[in-house]
Amino acid sequence: MEDETRKEELEIKKLEIKELEIKELEKENSDGAAKPAKSDKKRCPKCGSNMKLRHGEFGSYYGCSRFPVCNYTEKTGE
Ligand SMILES: [Zn+2]
Repeated sequence: MEDETRKEELEIKKLEIKELEIKELEKENSDGAAKPAKSDKKRCPKCGSNMKLRHGEFGSYYGCSRFPVCNYTEKTGE
């Protein structure tokens, strides 16, 4: 009896691993096909969150998405 349930558990684990492997492959493929623009993926050096493009009084700039918790900003270079 116990052996049966163990077999089933093993089968489920195998399936889960296969699914993970497929997902990893899909990730690699999509990364190679369409690389995301690096300018959109700016990271805040202070807290590691994404930076958002903001438009202020003196032009556009990157601001931390965790503002006001983190107030790091960066010039866009324009
Ligand atoms: Zn930040």
